[in-house]
Parts: sequence; structure tokens; C-alpha cells
Amino acid sequence: MGAATLLRDVFGFDGFRPGQQEIVEAVTEGRNTLAIMPTGGGKSLCFQLPALVRDGVTVVISPLIALMRDQVRGLREAGVEAGALTSGNTEEETEEVWRALERGSLKLLYIAPERLASNGAQRMLRQAGVSLIAVDEAHCVSQWGHDFRPDYLRIGELRRALDVPLAAFTATADGETRDEIVAKLFDGAPPETFLHGFDRPNIHLAFAAKDNPRRQILAFANTRREQAGIVYCGTRAKTETLAKALADDGHTTCYYHGGMDAEDRRTVERRFQQEDGLIVCATIAFGMGIDKPDIRWVAHADLPKSIESYYQEIGRAGRDGAPAETLTLFGQDDIRFRRQQIDEGLAPPERRAADHGRLNALLGLAEALHCRRQNLLSYFGEDPVPCGHCDLCDKPPEVFDGTQPVRMALSAALRTEERFGAGHLIDIVLGNMTDKVRQWNHDQLPTFGVGKDYSRVQWQAIFRQMMGHDLMRPDAERHGALRMTEKARPILRDEEKIDLRRDTIRAAKSGPKVKQ
Ligand code: ADP
Ligand code: ZN
Repeated sequence: MGAATLLRDVFGFDGFRPGQQEIVEAVTEGRNTLAIMPTGGGKSLCFQLPALVRDGVTVVISPLIALMRDQVRGLREAGVEAGALTSGNTEEETEEVWRALERGSLKLLYIAPERLASNGAQRMLRQAGVSLIAVDEAHCVSQWGHDFRPDYLRIGELRRALDVPLAAFTATADGETRDEIVAKLFDGAPPETFLHGFDRPNIHLAFAAKDNPRRQILAFANTRREQAGIVYCGTRAKTETLAKALADDGHTTCYYHGGMDAEDRRTVERRFQQEDGLIVCATIAFGMGIDKPDIRWVAHADLPKSIESYYQEIGRAGRDGAPAETLTLFGQDDIRFRRQQIDEGLAPPERRAADHGRLNALLGLAEALHCRRQNLLSYFGEDPVPCGHCDLCDKPPEVFDGTQPVRMALSAALRTEERFGAGHLIDIVLGNMTDKVRQWNHDQLPTFGVGKDYSRVQWQAIFRQMMGHDLMRPDAERHGALRMTEKARPILRDEEKIDLRRDTIRAAKSGPKVKQ
């Protein structure tokens, strides 16, 4: 199976995150690699996917036992033979791992660094057909860092003994730590190194609520005449109608979607590559093979399906580094459409929950209050300052003090042990006697029915904005339940206030006016 198929079928992702593809390729090809990626950026895929493509076993060394167990569980659920040897194992679990190794069926073996100290483990690994070593949290080998693990010093020895490629991962970017990793894990022979920030500073970011989408797209395109651009549309039909509207407005344009025959599609691809100033109205089928450095703008006539898709699609603009513009439209219908798409898909429940989470993150970005880029990059694990190059930096939105409703929402989540998604939490604050409320006795909570000043739609906007502020995060491992973040604590304790955007809440139709 190819990487793209594995990515979809085993991991449930539509595409790579920024930086992943190059790392996956290098690791798959067996080159020694060091990848520095922010936490949450998606490092585990960079060794898990190559492990599936390569013959033999990949040994994964990680200091975090809970994380190893999580990953093993996730992989097994996806049908991958993975096992762990940690101090947390039961005897049966250990026995099972040994047997799978003997059968030669194990693809990934997670092992705690302490285990490397035992002769038995070293011998076992030599016989097990190990073809790759992946080291997570590689900075633990640094004696000067505060995460130093003496057992990590045995990894270099293991690599020499097994004589296989090693891929090291860390979120710690400083040069000294990197040098130490190279010295201790790779005996000083510099590995192929990947150090990626996710920022694309030349791309201007903007979102707008749908008002009259066709007019909005035309207005956007009209300010950039003669410039190559892509308009991503949610449906095939829309690519055709929008292309016609743009043509009527004097643009050179064509459409592209998966329903066209291959030759027509190739013609569009070729024209886009060669002509100046062509606009292509397309579904997401357009883009995979496109390698045009001077795409000057990308517009979304409909909301993308996830924050990753958004990043990937706008990322096609301005590869040459020159300024590029983007505009993403979103409306209630889009949100319903995307939710439905997920719910009606064939993916298993956990995967659907994760997809909802990725959609929520995009909605948070759409409803953000401050710098979009800060919001986007912090989702990918970076910690940037406001960019000065997005619509919200250009013109900050009107806000109101939303501390009270936010505290209600947080308290509903906390009192239900952070085990529920927005829908149920909204039922609680609205005081709706649903079956689920009855089943969990949530009508007994002090927060039950305290939020009747807002309608359901307004509450949805409040929850989306809370995610935009990173006060709550959908927990993909727990079926999309919302968990409070550290940032929310001072608000819950009434030590800090929080502003919400007035426009999106006022725009919410049904229900009483927003209280201030
Ligand atoms: P890290 O180890 O870098 O902190 P993880 O490997 O745990 O990060 O990944 C962080 C999150 O990103 C996980 O929830 C994972 O499911 C998600 N993720 C990773 N790669 C992708 C991708 N290509 N598309 C969508 N989500 C991804
Ligand atoms: Zn900004």
C-alpha cells in the first residue's frame, strides 16, 4: 500500500500536515533523520507510517508510558500489530508481545528506555528483525536539559548493535540540544534534519461570514485581476456556476472537479500551469498535482472540512514567497453540511469524533477574535505573536464581555467531568430535559438551566469562540468531549475576563438578544 492510502485507511487523515511528508519519505527510505516539530504537530505519524511501509519491526523508544500505551491502543484499533514493553505491562501483555515478535508479525514495538538496560531486551531486539529505531522526545538524551534520561544514552549503543537507521523526534529546537542529539544518538554523523515552522508569512489570512457568497467572491477576484487564483467550492455544481459568474465579469476562468473526464482535467491543469492570470473554480480534487509557485490568491466559497485542509489549501498560494491573499467564507449551512458529511461517513465513531474536533478547530479560527495566524499556528503547536498580516490584525472586531456565559459553559464541562461535547453541555445550560440529561442526572447540576438568556444558536457561537480562544479543546481520544485548558482556569475562578465577538452572536437568529 502506498503512503497516501495508508494515511487515509489506517490513520484516517486526508493529507499530510505541514512538514510531515518530507519526513515520512526520508524515514521510509531509511535515512537517518532528526525532525524538530512543535508538540501537537504530528510527529508520531512520521515514524508510524514508515513503520508500516518498511519490512520488519520498528522499535519506538519513548519516555512517556501513558503516551505509548495510547499509541499502541490507537494502532491496534486501526488494525496494526503494535505492542509495548513498559513497566506498566501485565505479564500476559509482555508474553503476547514476545509471541508476536517470534511470529514476526509485529510492526511497531514501543519500549521504555529503562528496558534497554537489560541484556535480555538487547538480545531480543537483535533477533527480532528490527529495521528502524524511532526515538520520541529525543532531547531526553541531553544531559543539560531538564528532561534528561540516563537510559537514553544506551540508544546510540543499540543503534550500533542493530546497524539500522534511526529517526529522532523532538519539539526542542535549540541548537545546543540538537548538537547533543547528533552526538549521542548518531555518533556525530549529521542526520538529515527537518526543522519546520508552519508559518507562511507572505499569505494574508481572512475569513468572512457568508452574506452573498457569489458577490463576495466576485468582489475579491475583482481586486486581483490578471492574477492566478483558485476558488475552492464545496460542490461540483458550484464550480461551474461560479466559473460562469467570473467569466461574465470579465475574468479568464475555468472549472475543475472529479466528475470531469481525465483529459479535460489535464487540460485545465496544463492551462493553469502555463497561462497567466487564470482562475480555476474547483473542488478539492484540484491541487494534489499542482506545483505552481505564483498562485496569487486562494478563496474558499465554502468552508473547508478541517483546519488541516484549510491550511493545505491556502498553502497553495504564494509558494514563491511573494505576497498572496486568501479569503474563506463560512456560514451556518456550511457547518451543518460538514457535520453531516462526517456523521454520514463510514468512519468508525472515534474517527468521526476526531473529524468533528478538526472541524471545530476551523470554526474556532473562523470566529477568532485576535490574530488568525496566532490561532492557526497555535493549533499546530507553535506559540507566535500577532502577525499584523491578517484581517483581524488589520481591523479588530467589536467585542463584549462574555465572561459570564463562558463561565457557565466551563462550569457545565467541569461538573460533568469534561466527558461531553458541546451539544450536551448546551442542553445543560439551557435546561433541556433530554434523555441524556436524564440518564446522567444532569438536571441536578447547579448549572442546569442557568443559560437561558441565550438561544441554542448563540450558545453554539459561544462554544466555537471558546475553542477559538483555546479555552476548551475537543479531546479526540475521548469521542470529542470538551476539555478545559489551563487558559480557562483564571476565567473560571473569576480572576480574568474574556471578550467575545459581538457580530457572530448578534447574527445568531432565534432567541432573545444578547445580554451585556
Ligand atoms: P506530537 O507527537 O507531534 O505532539 P501527535 O503525533 O500526537 O503530535 O499528533 C497530534 C495530533 O495531530 C493528533 O491528534 C493527530 O491525530 C493529529 N494529526 C497528526 N497528523 C495529522 C494529519 N496528517 N492530519 C490530521 N491530523 C493529524
Ligand atoms: Zn494576524
